[in-house]
Amino acid sequence: MSDTGSAVPTTVTELRRILAPYRGSGSGSAIRMTGAAPRIGFVPTMGYLHEGHVALVHRARAECDVVVASIFVNPLQFGANEDFASYPRDLDRDRALLARAHTDVVFVPDGAEFYPPGADSAVVVGSVAEPLEGAFRPGHFRGVATVVSMLFNAVQPHVAYFGEKDWQQLQVIRQFVRDLHIPVEIVAVPTVRERDGLAMSSRNVRLSPAERERARCLPAALEAARAAFAAGETSSHALERAMLDIIAREPEAKVDYAAVVDAATLRPAREASAQSRALIAVRLGRVRLIDNMGL
Ligand code: AMP
Repeated sequence: MSDTGSAVPTTVTELRRILAPYRGSGSGSAIRMTGAAPRIGFVPTMGYLHEGHVALVHRARAECDVVVASIFVNPLQFGANEDFASYPRDLDRDRALLARAHTDVVFVPDGAEFYPPGADSAVVVGSVAEPLEGAFRPGHFRGVATVVSMLFNAVQPHVAYFGEKDWQQLQVIRQFVRDLHIPVEIVAVPTVRERDGLAMSSRNVRLSPAERERARCLPAALEAARAAFAAGETSSHALERAMLDIIAREPEAKVDYAAVVDAATLRPAREASAQSRALIAVRLGRVRLIDNMGL
C-alpha cells in the first residue's frame, strides 16, 4: 500500500474501509492483478514483536498481495492470576518493525470497541483444547478461539499465519476453522529460536539474567526426548522422564507439564511415533515458558 508505513486502524469499521478496495479484482481494485483476486494474508499477534513474529510476516509477504497484522493483548485469554497487566507492550517499536517488514495494515483493536459492553459470546473448542495448556490455563483457549475468530471476521483473510511455537494453539485454531467452516487457510511457521536454542517469546524479556540462563533447560529437555526417540526409545513415559531429568538439573525451574502426545490430537499415547510431539511448560520465577518439538 505505502512504502512509508502501514495503515493503523483501531476499529473494525476503519479496517474494513481500508481493506474494501482489495477484496475484489474489479475496476475499483487498488491492486492491478492479472485476473486473480488479491490474496489477503493475516498475522495475529499480541505485540512486543521479535524475529519469530517477523518470520510470520515475511512468509505472508512472500505468499500474499496484502499483509495485515494485528496487535492485541487479548484480556479474554488471560486467567485472573496471569500476566495480562505485566505482559510487555511497545506499540511504537512494533509499528516500526512491521513497517520495515512491509506490512500493509496493522490492526490495533481498541479493547472497548472490540469487546463492547454486553458482548457475551464465545468459541469453545473440544478435546484438543482440554489437556496441557487447557488444563493449566482454564479458559485460555476459549479466549484464544473467540478472539481469533473475531479477528478472522474483521480481516476476512484468505490465509492466516501461526507459529509452531504455540503448537496446541495451532491445533485448536485448525479445529475450529474446520468445524465452523471458516474460509481461511491456516499456515504453520516453524519456531524461531535464539542462538542457544531458547524459543523466541515476548515473555523472555521478563526473565532475569539468571532465569534466562536456566531457560535453556526447555530446548535441552525437548532435544533430549528427541535424541532418546532417535536412539530407539518409544515409551512416551521414558521420553517424558528424559525431559524431566534435564529440567530437574535446574532446581528453580518448576514444571507444569512435560508430555509426549499425538501431534494433531494432543492425546497421550503409550508408544511414541513419528507423529508424536514433545511439549513442555516450565515456570521460572514469575515467567511461564512453553515450547515443543516434533520427535
Ligand atoms: P503472540 O504474540 O505470542 O501471541 O504470538 C503471535 C504469533 O506468533 C503466534 O502465531 C505465535 O505462535 C507466533 N510466534 C511466537 N513466537 C514465535 C517463535 N519463536 N517462532 C515462530 N512463531 C512464533
